[in-house]
Amino acid sequence: MNDDIPSPTSGSQGCRRGRILIVDDQPTNIVVAHQILHPLHEVFMATNGEQAIAFCQNTPPDLLLLDVEMPGMNGMEVCRLLKQWPDTRDIPVIFVTGLQSQEQEMACWEAGAVDFVTKPVTPATLRNRVHAHLTLKFQADQLRELAFTDSLTGIANRRLFNERLDREWRHCQRHRASLALILSDIDHFKKYNDRYGNLSGDECLQQVAHTLQLQLNRPYDLAARLGGEEFACLLPETSLAGAVSVAIKMEAAIRALHIEHADSAAADVVTLSLGVATVEPDADNNSQHLIQLADDQLYLAKKTGRARVCAV
Ligand code: GH3
Ligand code: MG
Ligand code: MG
Repeated sequence: MNDDIPSPTSGSQGCRRGRILIVDDQPTNIVVAHQILHPLHEVFMATNGEQAIAFCQNTPPDLLLLDVEMPGMNGMEVCRLLKQWPDTRDIPVIFVTGLQSQEQEMACWEAGAVDFVTKPVTPATLRNRVHAHLTLKFQADQLRELAFTDSLTGIANRRLFNERLDREWRHCQRHRASLALILSDIDHFKKYNDRYGNLSGDECLQQVAHTLQLQLNRPYDLAARLGGEEFACLLPETSLAGAVSVAIKMEAAIRALHIEHADSAAADVVTLSLGVATVEPDADNNSQHLIQLADDQLYLAKKTGRARVCAV
């Protein structure tokens, strides 16, 4: 990896530079921790719990060094809150504590910390603890990424799609926004494989996946391969008209790849059928309902000649 930067004074090999947030109400404590970690890592600072939470929600760091005792929201509360939210749950928290009773230690673990160090901090101990937990964090990130990526095409897989669908469902419900879904399926793909071979079939899937992804332009839009030659695009806070125009662009872009498909009854190149649906999530429906609506439209697109977009 090219962002691998050796950490010359850590004594341990191969830990990437991490983004670390130090939270402490005493600026002098921050300065000390900053001096210890700064040459090895990118260090950010917050002086109260609210600031720390806002930072973690906006730009999640790789690790949090959290003071236990702070006026207002204390470290335990900050940690408990971060562990409740999907986007911040996986940030490892190391408590920096002056307290040493068994009870306090238990409270740290129960709040969700991965470790703690006691004040005054020993530079080598802090460095090594940080190093150990960052290494684990980066490994976990890599595994998570693999688990959520389709290995053939490199775009999101069904697992990530399901997770994002749940999340965007709740988001759109809270904001009374509509959630759009485009389901698509390559036309006569079995015949494509039969004629051009499975290897060409795989290449075709890669090109289609890449092209679909290129048509999305908002940060929260997601293109995923659901399996085989089926793809899904999730468009949060998008109207039906907006989603249909994206689907039309997708249909045209796949056609414009000009991938020869001599055995297709739909065209002489590879084409896509697409079904589009939107719902405004509420308590009376669920995400399966949206999938069903889009799938019905995809079925209609197949039935009425393929290489087209159908929408409700
Ligand atoms: P339709 O237009 O009705 O969608 O017909 P189709 O032939 O595309 O659909 P069908 O579901 O009958 O066949 C899908 C084919 O997709 C079957 C299989 O050969 C091919 N396929 C599925 N996954 C892969 C893959 O990972 N690589 C390759 N090369 N082919 C795949
Ligand atoms: Mg197909
Ligand atoms: Mg299919």
